Amino acid sequence: MNHKNTKTGSCLCGEVAYEITGPLRQIIGCHCIQCRKTTGHFMAATNASHDDFKLVTETGLKWYRASDFAKRGFCKTCGATLFWQRDDADSISIAAGTLDGKTGLKIDRHIFCEFAGDYYDIEE
Ligand SMILES: [Zn+2]
Ligand SMILES: [Zn+2]
Repeated sequence: MNHKNTKTGSCLCGEVAYEITGPLRQIIGCHCIQCRKTTGHFMAATNASHDDFKLVTETGLKWYRASDFAKRGFCKTCGATLFWQRDDADSISIAAGTLDGKTGLKIDRHIFCEFAGDYYDIEE
């Protein structure tokens, strides 16, 4: 896997766009109530260091204070779920579906499975 390539991503309408120049974590599926409510299903997110992450367009970006330790970034124009940012973290979680093209990533594990919806099965 080549992490040297710059990866890009955006929301549906393009008013939030970003690029990543470093390694991306394998994807975690989070089935917690917050992730279910914000995505409409569950959150599949990768993660990148702030050092490697840059917002290219942020006119649509709005942050929602979702808890006392984290906020969620979405596009206020098209409604896309994009980011989860823990206040004290030096990395940002990025919704995998917003990455452009092939990611080379896989869903590595699932968390908060006990909160998963009853209309789907979690593999493995
Ligand atoms: Zn948008
Ligand atoms: Zn979650």
